[in-house]
Amino acid sequence: MASIRLLPEEVVNRIAAGEVVERPASVVKELVENALDAGARRIAVTLSGGGRDLVLVEDDGCGIPAEELPLAVRRHATSKLADDLLVRITTLGFRGEALPSIGAVARLSITSRPAGAESAFTILVEGERIEGPRPAAGSFGTRVEVRDLFRRTPARLKFLRSERAELQAALETVTRLALARPEIGFTLEAEGRRLLDLAPGTGDRAARERARALAILGRELAGDLVELETEREGIRLRGLLGLPTASRADASAQHLVVNGRPVQDRLLKAALKAAYGDLLPAGRHPVATLFLELPPERVDVNVHPAKAEVRFAEPGTVRGLVIGAVRRCLAEEGRRTAGRIATAAMGAFRKEAASTGRTPVRAPSPGLAEAAAAFQAPFAPLPPAAPPGAASEPEPAAAEAFPLGAARAQLLDSYILAQTRDGLVIVDQHAAHERIVFERLKAGLEAGGVARQVLMMPEVVELGPGEREALLGRTAELVRLGLLVEPFGPGAVLVREVPALLGERPTAELVRALARELAELGSIWTLEAAVGRVAATIACHGSVRAGRRLTLAEMDALLRRMERTPGSGQCNHGRPTWIELKRADIEKLFSRR
Ligand code: ADP
Ligand code: MG
Repeated sequence: MASIRLLPEEVVNRIAAGEVVERPASVVKELVENALDAGARRIAVTLSGGGRDLVLVEDDGCGIPAEELPLAVRRHATSKLADDLLVRITTLGFRGEALPSIGAVARLSITSRPAGAESAFTILVEGERIEGPRPAAGSFGTRVEVRDLFRRTPARLKFLRSERAELQAALETVTRLALARPEIGFTLEAEGRRLLDLAPGTGDRAARERARALAILGRELAGDLVELETEREGIRLRGLLGLPTASRADASAQHLVVNGRPVQDRLLKAALKAAYGDLLPAGRHPVATLFLELPPERVDVNVHPAKAEVRFAEPGTVRGLVIGAVRRCLAEEGRRTAGRIATAAMGAFRKEAASTGRTPVRAPSPGLAEAAAAFQAPFAPLPPAAPPGAASEPEPAAAEAFPLGAARAQLLDSYILAQTRDGLVIVDQHAAHERIVFERLKAGLEAGGVARQVLMMPEVVELGPGEREALLGRTAELVRLGLLVEPFGPGAVLVREVPALLGERPTAELVRALARELAELGSIWTLEAAVGRVAATIACHGSVRAGRRLTLAEMDALLRRMERTPGSGQCNHGRPTWIELKRADIEKLFSRR
């Protein structure tokens, strides 16, 4: 081995650059964060070649005095760290390594003019070479130009994705920052096209945050975002939660902001997921923005050079706060949704009638939505199991006296049409059955365990390594849910017993879905949170599918079971399981009233 030597600053910068500047989007992130730290009101980003050829960020912030420009591009030089112990960090930057890192792998030029300065000054950095500062033309604020990123480090260049993918990543970076800072105006232009144009937000904070979220997530969400605001033990949580029905196939519509910093935090993401719990089917992700504010000394942002991760001093408190607040907020909203859906159903009927040109349109029945909402509320009291005097009446009439009535027909192989004494009920058979299975699993759990059924032929299910471990790490809980699995060679498990209420359904698909679910939740999940998800997954796989023919007797049995099941007005995904039209509503549709 050669003897030990201190590395030259140039080499140190290049090493640091590897961590800070991974791709054009990281340059964009560092420069926009600097502009935000400088108190800019408007930030303009221009890219070319997906950011490889040019990243230009202009701001109207406080600027850098000419004499400090050489220092700004030196490693570990920062104006932001008043606190050398790193416990009270209030800015996005503090490590003083972005500009030197960028200078080490690209051509960097900074032109800046602080308020009151007579002219701007510019400085150029390219590897070891530094030129300037010298006077230049420029308006107040700072303009940072980064050209030919990674030109001198071909190894990195090779790892970049297509121009399009890099541009997309840069756009997402700006979008995330823009969502976190709605009072600031942002633009992004690439190859002469304006991809983002966000004016500085106005109005109070809630109004600004909502307007910015809609501008970014899509205006069609306007009716689907619920506001959340709460505080506990000095931690404030605000946010906008998407209704379960507005879920997405990936987590890209989740924005987590901690003390003004967009983060990709595992704990917060998992808490959000657990809070939506069984309101979302496996593989769906909620739309949500969460703003968490807490004293800076209670969160460590110095975890990684890219600062996308944070550590909370009290992770349990943060997790509890998020799960509790999100759940409460969704439960309240669940009651309102059911009402809105019933009203919308009425509207759809009326529109149909109106378009035939024969029937005049009338105002919706005022009582219907409220009645539906009250009955379908997730935690509403149960309707009476049997109506008084039902036993003495002849069969069909007796069934009609039940809240969900007597089954009359199956429509489209998916919906049950039932007649009540005073109208008709349409039931979504899969959704309803799923909820029933779920509630039975939960009840079984509370009673000490779900009834199991031994498989005549134990089933071998192949799983990926992470999934297999996740599943086998939870065998004790799975047994309580009725599922007995054991290791079977390196890449598989053996299923010996399944929940009895699943009947003779194939188990492989279910076991794979469960393993995926558990792997995603990770080991930090409490028994309670994990069990909720697992039960929901089992319920979904163990339920009557849409498209299965049912006899009248089977349908009636399902209706009676729904009446006895708490929360059966909503399926596990938050959709209603049934809607009702009263005689009066039907008469209105036909203009008899
Ligand atoms: P950090 O942001 O961690 O301090 P940087 O290398 O990103 O480190 O920036 C170094 C310093 O240059 C900052 O501390 C700040 O004083 C100054 N600076 C960088 N960009 C700007 C800007 N857009 N406006 C004003 N000052 C800036
Ligand atoms: Mg910085």
